[in-house]
Amino acid sequence: MNVILLGKPGSGKGTAGIEIAKDFNFKLISTGDLLRQEKSSGSTIGKQIESIMDRGDLVSDDIINDIIEQELSKPLPIDMYYLFDGYPRTISQARRLDEMLNISAVVYFDVDDATIAERIEQRGKKSGREDDQDSDTTKCRLENYYNDTQPVVDLYENSDRLYKVDASKSAISVYLQIKQLINKLNKEEEEEDNGIY
Ligand code: ADP
Repeated sequence: MNVILLGKPGSGKGTAGIEIAKDFNFKLISTGDLLRQEKSSGSTIGKQIESIMDRGDLVSDDIINDIIEQELSKPLPIDMYYLFDGYPRTISQARRLDEMLNISAVVYFDVDDATIAERIEQRGKKSGREDDQDSDTTKCRLENYYNDTQPVVDLYENSDRLYKVDASKSAISVYLQIKQLINKLNKEEEEEDNGIY
């Protein structure tokens, strides 16, 4: 079962993703991390995306699709699935992903904007991330979220693949909610395979 973690910037996807990937033996693909690696490598693409990321805008779909295709072309053990963090973030990315893989569950991190702004401000003090440093950048990221990513949430909701977690709670609570959800979905899938339904 391939799973997506979807939600506003700073909603806790990255933190939960690391733990969930370990627990369930997923291959974690975080586009934010891959892009930051590209940025620090100083490559041509890295230079292109630096200012875009630092001001809180989205990197172009072409660059993201290339990065994802490269990741998905790497061999994956037969019993392993993907866990996506920060991808897809636009309708075009979501459509492309649906062509490449079967996505059965999308975990939506439900949290209000004020909590997000507060968390990003706190994270910025320690993370050193350029895009976490001022409230204008956070505002820009949230605007992009509403323009480009909210339609992705709607797309998955309309195809009955969206599962909400309360992401305003503590990191451990969010982690436990997701763990419970994936256990439940795995069990349902197993029962379906065994012909119980
Ligand atoms: P956050 O979820 O806190 O915004 P990420 O690490 O997921 O942090 O993303 C950091 C930045 O990387 C984004 O603001 C954006 O510029 C870029 N980025 C990450 N994923 C994508 C994507 N799927 N499409 C376009 N840009 C992306």
